[in-house]
Amino acid sequence: MFFNRGAPKKGKKIIENLFFFHETQMLDCNQYIIKNDQKDELVIFDAGNGLSLDGLIDGMKKLNLSYEDITSVYLTHEHVDHVVGIYPLLEKMENDPPTIFAFGETAKIIREGDQSKIIPGNLGISPKMFGINIKPLDVVELDLENPVKIGNDFSFKIYHTPGHSLGSITYYEPNLKILIPGDLVFTGGSFGRYDFPGGSLKKLQESIEYVNNLDVTHLLPGHMGVSNKGNEQIKHSNRMVHSVGGFF
Ligand SMILES: [Zn+2]
Repeated sequence: MFFNRGAPKKGKKIIENLFFFHETQMLDCNQYIIKNDQKDELVIFDAGNGLSLDGLIDGMKKLNLSYEDITSVYLTHEHVDHVVGIYPLLEKMENDPPTIFAFGETAKIIREGDQSKIIPGNLGISPKMFGINIKPLDVVELDLENPVKIGNDFSFKIYHTPGHSLGSITYYEPNLKILIPGDLVFTGGSFGRYDFPGGSLKKLQESIEYVNNLDVTHLLPGHMGVSNKGNEQIKHSNRMVHSVGGFF
């Protein structure tokens, strides 16, 4: 089945206060939740496709996490499978909506509600398929100089890593050696597609080269599986990006 609204999005603890929710369907993405150890607040990385929201909420419950505690959504880039879940989430949380954070082109597109950039026409899909209306939203623009701090343990640096899309960023936690690269690199030697609008193979190669120089244990990509052998995996993708291909 192409879209599977009800499937629970299975969660798994990666390390203390960090949880991974595996994509359950086509055009969805992996999501990561961090619990603030100082207060009852959750931060989520990427919004999924919206159809998977109920499944995410189910998966969260199983780990004793409540969606009502989500205060911030950090986006990795502007593509449909990472973004459109914010619309039903904001609707569900209209009394106490989370803040949306994004960088550069991604922030601009979401602020403007630019449907053609969020759902490129050449994908042959429409917002209706996700049961949503894309509309302009308030977005807080991320500043590459200001790390994203969550509680005592997490402080993510932000790097602009274009190639898959113009607004693609990577979140990096240097002490815990966590990398959240969106659709830049995946496990198994895979890497992001560069044939969407704003994509560039050269930029993708440079961006992967850049993260290949970071010390990474936990590689937490936008699709497929996660790995606790980050450096090894990124090195593999870095080699492969010089050959033809790309997946998401
Ligand atoms: Zn993408």
